[in-house]
Amino acid sequence: MPDLDEAGTAAEAAAVTGFWQELGLPGLLDVHTHFMPPNVLAKVWAYFEDGRAAVGQDWPIVYRQPEQERVALLRAFGVRRFSALSYPHKPGMAEWLNSWAADFAARTPDAWRSATFFPEPGADGYVRAAIRSGAQLFKAHLQVGGYDPGDELLDPVWGLLAEAGLPVVVHCGSGPTPGPYTGPGPMSGVLARHPRLIIIVAHLGAPEYREFLDLAERYPGVYLDTTMAFTDFLDRLAPFPPVLVPRLAAAADRILLGSDFPSIPYPYLRQLQALARLDLGPVWLRAVCYDNAARLLGL
Ligand SMILES: [Zn+2]
Repeated sequence: MPDLDEAGTAAEAAAVTGFWQELGLPGLLDVHTHFMPPNVLAKVWAYFEDGRAAVGQDWPIVYRQPEQERVALLRAFGVRRFSALSYPHKPGMAEWLNSWAADFAARTPDAWRSATFFPEPGADGYVRAAIRSGAQLFKAHLQVGGYDPGDELLDPVWGLLAEAGLPVVVHCGSGPTPGPYTGPGPMSGVLARHPRLIIIVAHLGAPEYREFLDLAERYPGVYLDTTMAFTDFLDRLAPFPPVLVPRLAAAADRILLGSDFPSIPYPYLRQLQALARLDLGPVWLRAVCYDNAARLLGL
């Protein structure tokens, strides 16, 4: 496993800090990071490291550290706000994840308070409670959860989130492996019913980049996060078509920095370098790495 020693960590923090300083930013805002109960995170890491994601390449977890060290590392990188996305793979789990996330937010003032849900009786009740207690960001994982976002049990949930104007990071693309409800179809149906809903399409919708960019052009509340996109790792699985790069420029106000920290098989800096490699200029990078999330989620 790649293990970052202290000198390596300091050098990495200096390189990440240099990236945003050069852009004249006060730091980074990362909408797609994961903090969850330790036993759940251990299972997620084992899933990737044991090759069960079946992506045809190794997926060693670079930031396999205790929670406090991971938080300290994001701070050393100058990530001013980050999320704590967790997601259930079965019923009866979301409410427990939400109470863990509330505790995490209480001890981590620079994390956006995050919550999740599953299509189950009572989902609207605990989502309403999470909103009342200050949740700022939700997560839905259609591939891991294996559910239809159009499930009637979720209709009131989408309605509540649209009404509250709270964004939901949705893993709805078919990468790295498809599920029965991934791809642009199911979420398009939800947006047709709830056109004001704010969603952040994880991983830029990989591999259905074009279709999810279409959706962002159609609905003002559709954003895309950069999580893993344009890195060599994801480009081997789901290459981003160069022909779509001008559409990224046009969607400059809808793209948000996401990293998937800590569950990534490469150093954090790679995500930033991958964005810079697109050559869309400093104004675009400032919007993506800070301004858009500041506007959408606040500080
Ligand atoms: Zn993720």
